[in-house]
Amino acid sequence: MQIRRISIYEDFQCTGAACPVSCCRGWRVPIDEEMYKKYLTEKGIFGTVLRCLIEKKDDIVSFRNTVRGCPFWGTDRLCSLQKKSGTQYMPLVCVQFPRQLCNFGFFCEETLYLACPEAARLFLKAAAGNQPFVFHVTEGEVRYEVNTTNDDEEFLRYLLQARTELIQMLDDGISFDSMAFLQYGRDAQNACLSRTPLPSPLYYNDKNRYIFDCTMMNQLFFNGFYHPSLKTLSPFLYRLCRKYIKSFCGLNRRSPDAANRRLAALEAVFRQKIPDSDKLLNQYYAYYLQTSFLDIFEDYSFSKHLLFGIAKANMLWVFIALYAEKRSFVTTEELARIIAVYERRAPQLEDALKHITA
Ligand code: SF4
Repeated sequence: MQIRRISIYEDFQCTGAACPVSCCRGWRVPIDEEMYKKYLTEKGIFGTVLRCLIEKKDDIVSFRNTVRGCPFWGTDRLCSLQKKSGTQYMPLVCVQFPRQLCNFGFFCEETLYLACPEAARLFLKAAAGNQPFVFHVTEGEVRYEVNTTNDDEEFLRYLLQARTELIQMLDDGISFDSMAFLQYGRDAQNACLSRTPLPSPLYYNDKNRYIFDCTMMNQLFFNGFYHPSLKTLSPFLYRLCRKYIKSFCGLNRRSPDAANRRLAALEAVFRQKIPDSDKLLNQYYAYYLQTSFLDIFEDYSFSKHLLFGIAKANMLWVFIALYAEKRSFVTTEELARIIAVYERRAPQLEDALKHITA
């Protein structure tokens, strides 16, 4: 099997107890079918403990969250399940995280989720050093299964080429929020529906930016991203969310114009406090494309995926700016932490996209 690995992949090393936001903080830990069966048949007190700590909600089996998150997360900031029984008793997601392993049948791609602060730090380091996010190709065996139902190799090869061209556009100076990406997405999606030839992203060069105003931002924020339970699940992100609410919620209700002026002032903070801020957002979008654009292979939703990346990058700078506002500078470690906690919650934005239009 051809394995394509993102350039920062091999540099990753878990920082263990020194990690500021350990893997299981801020979300439910799903348990895969194979491990679930193992837990159900495990004998003795250990088996009873495991079964007591499992819950099933909306067809997803996971560990019950305590106020501290995963019940196996110890006071030493390490996983007690791993310490006691090794990785063979850990859910697959815990063993793999933050590695994102995608088997498309024809080849595999291995990348890192930025929801891990160490992965986010590697991303920031590469972005600051102008190192492009490229795939290194090797051959080998993989033990993870094909995770797509599509077998249209021609379409997959088209997506690979389109992704390269989209990243080329970013390299050529088109901003991550340019309308060119959305126009390409709309036309590609229509071409899929009408079974006409798919366009090349390079035909598109509209430099007008997608307008992301405060009303849209609130739609995304309040339709899934924010939840009061973040107070215990992800206290650091919760504090940023409270700042967000204080800054924009009431103000936007009273005067959308005033809220948009506050947003513009915050954007100025972001540009002032974060070196090469435009480049950082473009690199963030490029990384998003490298890790998520091939999701279109499964659902053909060009528009949704391209807009999601733009919305995600926009919300990210808002959170960074809220953090930076009262500080004279922000370190790489602080930025990595913001990115990591934000990424854990960002999938919720995808559902909220239906409330805004491209
Ligand atoms: S989030 Fe990343 S660095 Fe932190 S404990 Fe998990 S794998 Fe290690």
